[in-house]
Amino acid sequence: MNVKYGTTGVPIILNDSLAYLECKVVRKIDVDTHWLFIGELVDAQMLDDNNKPMTYSYYRETKKGVAPKNAPTYIDKSKLDRLTESVKSGKHKCTVCGYIYDESKEEIKFSDLPDHWKCPVCAAGKEDFTEV
Ligand code: FE
Repeated sequence: MNVKYGTTGVPIILNDSLAYLECKVVRKIDVDTHWLFIGELVDAQMLDDNNKPMTYSYYRETKKGVAPKNAPTYIDKSKLDRLTESVKSGKHKCTVCGYIYDESKEEIKFSDLPDHWKCPVCAAGKEDFTEV
């Protein structure tokens, strides 16, 4: 067991740790779902430069961890894919008549058009367009 004794003599177990921070708690805040501790740094050391820390990004990408839908870090992948596609092509097709709204030929991005905007050919609503 890899043990370090903190400045107050309290043992700190460092098994499988890449680094440690020892802080003196100067404030404790109740934020409803958990406590937030504000600390003053007392000591710190990097123990292992050869391995990468398991970040939240690593957890989500490698371990397939998904944030709950109500979490601020939640990403709706289907919305993100649609957004990315529309940014790439800049073209939106009317599903009623086939008219293509091409952002490269217009002054306004499709997403910036007002909700009451209509297809110039068949008068279908903006909601009848899909990104192509
Ligand atoms: Fe149309």
